Amino acid sequence: MSSVPPARSSPPGMATTTSTITPKQTVKISNPIDFVEDPEHVPADANIPDNYVSYTLKHQKALPPVTWDNLLQNLNWLHVGILGLTPLLGFTGAYFTRLRWETAVWAVLYYYMTGLGITAGYHRLWAHRSYNASKTLQYALALFGAGAVQGSIRWWARGHRAHHRYTDTDLDPYNAHKGLLWSHIGWMILKPRRKPGVSDVSDLSKSEVVKWQHRHYLKLVFFMGAIFPTVVAGLGWGDWQGGYVYAGLLRLVFVHHSTFCVNSLAHWLGDTPFDDKHTPRDHLVTALVTIGEGYHNFHHQFPMDYRNAIKWYQYDPTKWFISVCHKLGLASHLKTFPENEVRKGQLTMQLKRLRETQEQLTWPSDDSHLLVINWESYQDQAKTRPLICVAGFIHDVSDFLDEHPGGRHLLTKNIGRDATTAFFGGVYDHSNAAHNLLAMKRVGVLHGGAPHALEDGAIPPSQRLRIARYSELSASGYSSAALSDGEGLMG
Ligand SMILES: [Zn+2]
Ligand SMILES: [Zn+2]
Repeated sequence: MSSVPPARSSPPGMATTTSTITPKQTVKISNPIDFVEDPEHVPADANIPDNYVSYTLKHQKALPPVTWDNLLQNLNWLHVGILGLTPLLGFTGAYFTRLRWETAVWAVLYYYMTGLGITAGYHRLWAHRSYNASKTLQYALALFGAGAVQGSIRWWARGHRAHHRYTDTDLDPYNAHKGLLWSHIGWMILKPRRKPGVSDVSDLSKSEVVKWQHRHYLKLVFFMGAIFPTVVAGLGWGDWQGGYVYAGLLRLVFVHHSTFCVNSLAHWLGDTPFDDKHTPRDHLVTALVTIGEGYHNFHHQFPMDYRNAIKWYQYDPTKWFISVCHKLGLASHLKTFPENEVRKGQLTMQLKRLRETQEQLTWPSDDSHLLVINWESYQDQAKTRPLICVAGFIHDVSDFLDEHPGGRHLLTKNIGRDATTAFFGGVYDHSNAAHNLLAMKRVGVLHGGAPHALEDGAIPPSQRLRIARYSELSASGYSSAALSDGEGLMG
């Protein structure tokens, strides 16, 4: 036995060369462990095996499912407390507190400020690094983000990165396949059944602002979540109680559920214009309730893009906010994915939909399924049935004789003849619809009369552009070589 490995042939159409590929950038390749530049911040995923996902899902023990019997032991009481008490106190407080218009405006404004702390800060800046922010902006986002009471930046970004990396699997903390309620709130109020998949946040561990927020998190939460909105309304227009109830408590309930909708609604409602492999979807309603995070299908495809909405008329205030910060010199390096690649995703989905339409229609038989007969046989058979030859195909027009818009006589006079010239403009330049219909009446191919497969006359207009999988193209001989030398169709 020879130990020489089998030679690999390059794909058709690809030239082989022995010259060296010119690198765009010189990168030092070293041992995997040497990639870690800073030993104090070893990325959490630096040493995971290549089969990490399947291995972990198979071997890591998950907690048993939650049932009514074990529900109480499985509740995360801290989260139940926060997520249950806030609406309870907020709505009860609202019942006893008159809403002043100044307080209403402030509550909405503070909803957007703390919401942007999450969407522009926690999410797009820290979890996805989709732009750079100045220290001032970072501190502001960290402060207002704390006012949204959703955990520290570090904790939030760690879970969110796992969500993107393991979307729709059990390593995704808010796995949408476990239901709308689970992805909205269940994953927080119940103890997780297993640990989220590994995701690296070592970059955030180096950030001064992230560390500062993590260190002072509890103080910041109380101050920004409750004290600050109350003090603004109290000192501003004397509405201490309203400030606490509306801008503090109720505003927080709305910010919470706004963010939760990104995990639930955005994985459930809407379209998949870029990719339908996973659950994320685009929908205006989700965008409206999440300060612009509703174009989630786009976001999961291009998570490092600072935008969620790519069209100017789509609602994405978070993108507008980052843009304004950029204009003010507070944000830089706004990342956008190359337009060319974004459009490829869109085209792929459009082709997929068109293919579905194509598969619902009935198409004419092609020459590989038709009987090949010679001219004499054609003439012979045309004596007993109305057969007409056009573009090398023989058609049986018996059910069309009385339907022909030009009259029966134009068909009958061409029975047994080659009507190609007459059909394509000699007598009447038939419409695309007529050509498509004619192709449905094919019963045979004239031996020696089949035209070149690429001539328009042989291919009805509806089939000139077809959606074909690449495997079908090579199987049917439509390879580039076959097309270029005109062989391979007749088989
Ligand atoms: Zn998502
Ligand atoms: Zn994200």
